[in-house]
Amino acid sequence: MNLLDYLPSVPDFPKPGILFKDISPLLADQKAFSYAIDKLYALSDFCEFDFVLGIESRGFIFATALAQVSQKGLVLARKPNKLPNQVYSESYGLEYGSDTLEIQQAILPKNAKVLLIDDVLATGGTLIAGANLVKKAGAQVAGTLVLLEILDLMGSQRLAQANIDSKSLIQI
Ligand code: AMP
Repeated sequence: MNLLDYLPSVPDFPKPGILFKDISPLLADQKAFSYAIDKLYALSDFCEFDFVLGIESRGFIFATALAQVSQKGLVLARKPNKLPNQVYSESYGLEYGSDTLEIQQAILPKNAKVLLIDDVLATGGTLIAGANLVKKAGAQVAGTLVLLEILDLMGSQRLAQANIDSKSLIQI
């Protein structure tokens, strides 16, 4: 199965100059979605992990499925002011704009090994922010895993420079 058939490109969305990869057709096709999760699960054996951390919002979809098949806990990295109780916060630059992610301070045990999940790896800023949150919590970054990597934007090189192991299922 060629998963790229289910990931159409949308030019100039959400801003001019961005070639947006739309995961909606993949999610809507039960066989393609299930195949993608099986493959992500197989890829996830590049590292040992106790928790899966999903990045809001499309990362949640893949992180939730992966947490279930790998029988690990799921932790949510959310946009600002969504999580109750004390949070760690990290701001970062995006391919389009800038944003902040937060995790709850009490959610990860110290030294837990955490696999970070998102749909797309572009510049790597989002996953580096997620990794910084894991470190702030005193946990360990086991690695990062995404459905799709946009090679031109050099995200995996940026992650490697930060000593973070990364894998992607599909590269364009
Ligand atoms: P980055 O921090 O630059 O690696 O961007 C990754 C984040 O932005 C992910 O959460 C993606 O959902 C989103 N993203 C960035 N570029 C794209 C793109 N071209 N198509 C779809 N999502 C993207």
